[in-house]
Formats: sequence, C-alpha cells, structure tokens
Amino acid sequence: MSPHPHIESLTNWLPDQGDTPFVISGPCSAENEHQLLTTARELSLLPEVKVLRAGIWKPRTRPNDFEGAGVEALRWMQKAKAETGLKLAVEVANPAHVEEALKHGIDMLWIGARTVVNPFSVQELADGLRGTDIPVLVKNPLTPDLKLWLGALERINRAGVHRLAAIHRGFHYFEKSPYRNAPMWEIPIELKRLVPGLPLITDISHICGRRDLLQPIAQKALDLETNGLMIESHYNPDIALTDAAQQLTPAALKQLLASLIVRQHSGGFEFEYKLEQMRTEIDKIDVELIDLLSRRMQVVDEIGAYKKENNITILQLKRWQHIIEDRLSIGANLGLNRKFLLQLLELVHEASIQRQTEIFNRTGQPPTSSGDA
Ligand code: PEP
Ligand code: MN
Repeated sequence: MSPHPHIESLTNWLPDQGDTPFVISGPCSAENEHQLLTTARELSLLPEVKVLRAGIWKPRTRPNDFEGAGVEALRWMQKAKAETGLKLAVEVANPAHVEEALKHGIDMLWIGARTVVNPFSVQELADGLRGTDIPVLVKNPLTPDLKLWLGALERINRAGVHRLAAIHRGFHYFEKSPYRNAPMWEIPIELKRLVPGLPLITDISHICGRRDLLQPIAQKALDLETNGLMIESHYNPDIALTDAAQQLTPAALKQLLASLIVRQHSGGFEFEYKLEQMRTEIDKIDVELIDLLSRRMQVVDEIGAYKKENNITILQLKRWQHIIEDRLSIGANLGLNRKFLLQLLELVHEASIQRQTEIFNRTGQPPTSSGDA
C-alpha cells in the first residue's frame, strides 16, 4: 500500500516495535571471525537486537585503508547466524555483492550512502536484484537530496523488491556541527509523508559519529516515529578498524536501549480529545499567521510602489538593521529561539524584496539596491 505514484508495491515487512525498538546492530566492518562472533554473541543477549549488521565490502575514501574482509566474512556471518539465530544484513554496492550475499544466506541487504548518490550504480544493483525476494534497505544519499533518495527506492522497487525500507543516516553539510552527518530530520519526515507505507530506520551511528552523542538522537528518532534503529557495535570499539569513535560495546548498547522511551503513537479517548482541541488551536493560529503575512505583503507592495514613484531604492540597510534588532528583542522576551526568528525574518524579508523588485521592474525601471521590505 502506498499512495506514492512511483513506489507502487510495498509490503510492511518490519515487525511492529511495540514497547521495544527494532534494532539492527553489529560492527561497522566484519574484521575477523573472533571479532564478529564475539560481538554477535553479546548482541544476541539483547532482545531488541533482531538483525546483525556488518560491512563486508567497505567503501573507503582512500585506497589501502581497510576495505573489508570480502567473501570470507560472509562465512563468519553464517556462523554467527547459526549460533545466535540473529538475522543478517550486509551492504552491497554491485550485483556481484548481491550474488555472494544471497549465496551465503544473508537475510537483508542495504545500499550505502556513497552508492545511492550514483543512479548508474543503483540501476545496476536493481538489475542484479530482479527476481530475488530479499528485503532491501536504502540509505539516504550523502547529499541532502530527497529526490535522489526516492529515485533509488523507486529503481529498487521497480526491480520487483517490495520489502523495502529507507535508512536515514544523516547528510553531508558544511555548517559546523557536533554531528558527523547533519540529521536534517525534515528530509526523512517528508519521505514518510510522501511514501507512508515505507518503513524508516534511523542509523544513529553515522549521524552522530561519536558514541557520546547517540542517546538523544536515538530518542528523537523514536519520538519522530522511526520504525527501527541501526546502531554500530563492536566487542572492543577502541581497536575497531573503521568508525571506532561511534561504535558501542554491546553492554553500552544495552544501557542505551534501556534509557529509551518508546512512546505510544496514539492514546486513549481523553488524550485524543485534548490533542484534537490543541490541534484545532494550532490550525486557527496558522490561519492567522498566513493572514498576517498576506497583510504584511500588501503593505510591502504599497511601500514598493511609493518608493518607485519617488525614485528611492528598495533596500534601506539602516531600516533592515533596526527591524532585526527590534524583532529579535521582542522575540527574546516572548521566549522565541533567536536563530529560528532570525531565519524567519530573513525569509520574510527576502520575499518582500522580491515583491518590491517585481513592482520596480514592472515598467522596466531597474531597482537600484534594498529595509522596509
Ligand atoms: C556503514 O553502514 O558502515 C556505512 C558505510 O554507512 P554509510 O553508507 O551510511 O556511510
Ligand atoms: Mn560505519
């Protein structure tokens, strides 16, 4: 079931989380048999962990970095499954990987962020997946590009894979941030809105990049109704060959999971009634906000026409500076976040300048430069 026109046939294949999150965990890379089996044994004691993940072929930035143990590691994975009963997930980047993974009884595949950026690679993978019946999890591309993510899901779905899921692992972004990859939650939320039947898993490890940042991100993911978590773990992260800083010991993972609150998606009648009242209030306020914005724009238009008649420039920096300072101080007194309000003011200002520019251009007279906006 999916209203999305291009992702047609989805099966809801992930178990319902109930009171405990659905967790995929395991090392960033399968390094050797001892590392994988020790980690898997410890993970299998945690009831939330249903799937063992491990990178077998690692996409590394530089050659000669550890590039994964390859097919040999698939045999360690098989051993881990036989011993612990955990299902298995590996990353695949080309049809040969798919073939090897299927031969070795892997239960689900994921496509990594570096592969998803390239439609040629994704199409090759889709062709390699045709006729198989394996669940496929598609990570978001490195870049914050929802269409590219959707396109990859669509290619895989068209190849007949209907047990699909998306993995949100954060995005490359050049703003300074404590996170390795900016979460940009609005992107996975929009994906869920567009394709409601698609399960979404949050890879908190690659978002955070550091284990001390994981807990609040995991809780936020659950509060935003993620369908599961992917969390890297290693029996001894300090000696991990890849992503050492973000991996957790299974014991630390146990603590993290115990700290999470899985909230209900809906409550009883009383709760729903009160929620509905508050939502109605929000709906009314939104209409008022839109009405106020529209009235503001009308005045902006009048000012634009007046300036034009009098041959005065659009942007008057002193006025704009005054608006910013004045509105930010009003906002601070009312408890509004400064960064949020600043962004909002800038957005409104930009739209206002745009309208005045259009007014100036109407008779072909160029605007000279642009505060009243
Ligand atoms: C991984 O899961 O180990 C990995 C390489 O992730 P990503 O593709 O999200 O960088
Ligand atoms: Mn990793």
